[in-house]
Amino acid sequence: NSIVAIVGRPNVGKSTLFNRLVQRREAIVDSVSGVTRDRHYGKSDWNGKEFSVIDTGGYITGSDDIFEGEIRKQVNLAIDEADLIVFVVNVEDGITPMDAEVAKLLRKVKKPIFTVVNKVDNAMREPDAIEFYNLGLGEYFTIASINGSGTGELLDALAEKMPEPEEVNLEEEALPRFAVVGRPNAGKSSFINSLIGQDRNIVTDIAGTTRDSIDTKYNRFGFDFNLVDTAGIRKKSRVKEDLEFYSVMRAVRTIEYSDVIVLVVDATRGFEGQDQNIFWLAEKNRKGVVILINKWDLVEKETNTMRDYEAMVRKQIEPFTDVPIVFISALTKQRLFKAIETAVEVFQKRKTKIQTSKFNETMLDIIKTSPPPAIKGKFVKIKYCMQLPTQTPQFVFFCNLPQYVRDSYRRFLENKLRDIYDFSGVPITIYFRQK
Ligand code: GDP
Repeated sequence: NSIVAIVGRPNVGKSTLFNRLVQRREAIVDSVSGVTRDRHYGKSDWNGKEFSVIDTGGYITGSDDIFEGEIRKQVNLAIDEADLIVFVVNVEDGITPMDAEVAKLLRKVKKPIFTVVNKVDNAMREPDAIEFYNLGLGEYFTIASINGSGTGELLDALAEKMPEPEEVNLEEEALPRFAVVGRPNAGKSSFINSLIGQDRNIVTDIAGTTRDSIDTKYNRFGFDFNLVDTAGIRKKSRVKEDLEFYSVMRAVRTIEYSDVIVLVVDATRGFEGQDQNIFWLAEKNRKGVVILINKWDLVEKETNTMRDYEAMVRKQIEPFTDVPIVFISALTKQRLFKAIETAVEVFQKRKTKIQTSKFNETMLDIIKTSPPPAIKGKFVKIKYCMQLPTQTPQFVFFCNLPQYVRDSYRRFLENKLRDIYDFSGVPITIYFRQK
């Protein structure tokens, strides 16, 4: 899937445009998980092309004097990581020095660029917008992201530049794809090195694909799997590794191509905001997740240290509380087998297909005992249910009044499903539909 990065100086309307581009899709995803996180990253689709959108502005922090430097960094990152770049400017301000600065950076780029002149909300403004046309940067659009005018044309143009979905190699596809992700210095490289017993300079780089992570086939502990590794890649050094935005970009790219996300966390630092962001990305993409608490050798232990630590992490990932958590040390190689075994299990659970007749028998029994509570005198009757033939576990419950099913009841069914079929580490989706 392509990554679209939105760049530009502050207050030109990047985040409004971002919301426009991801809106339809986001609404669905967030109503499923019940959370709205990482709102600077979203997924969308248009004309049959799926893509990710990143609002680079969302990752800028700091005071005014470091602003310019931050923006330059942000644009450089977008140039490195994104496939398509949307450069937003504001018609009200004309070309400001900072716009010119950004344009200068973009001019050297070989990737498709779309100059989007925002706040052109009436025809009177069109002549003013022409000034930006002179920047000579890629395709040129005028929009009013506040009411959405012009975004359809922009999306058409973006979709046209995106490659057709990649054909998958079926044999390769049968192997689990594990993405080793996490914050800088969490120990991702160390984990992989310990796992494969060598320094990973020797890697097979699959060239010619749109992704730029390294995908390597391994056999360890009797399991065959692909590691989708970003840690091994160190690109141009102009990018500082500890940038939040950078790791998110990388994670986005990697997560999309993986089945199970192996989230490596530094035990000495705890499960922090950035770990949480990556976790939500994985959930949003409906990927399996295993959390590895690494550097466990460095933690002083008393009787309940592990139990307490685990509880603390589970609190941070609510409501997805049944995700497997494994305490490892890449250094002493403690529980590396367990880590891989768990990831393989999550991979297999994610592919679970439950026979419809048995599923009905089990679930309708539960529903009979605990039916959906009546709302405003309306009784919801669930008559039939089944698993959908999708890649990840999704279930549909057919009923007379789907709009009267409360979220709490959805969660109740999800918890039952998780108990019975053990979907730990696997996001599942439940729909209610009218037959
Ligand atoms: P990456 O950026 O996530 O790939 O992290 P690295 O693998 O480069 O590790 C960062 C630092 O943590 C290095 O100095 C490693 O030697 C150290 N490290 C990684 N795993 C462990 C571990 O399990 N225990 C200890 N004590 N140190 C570790």
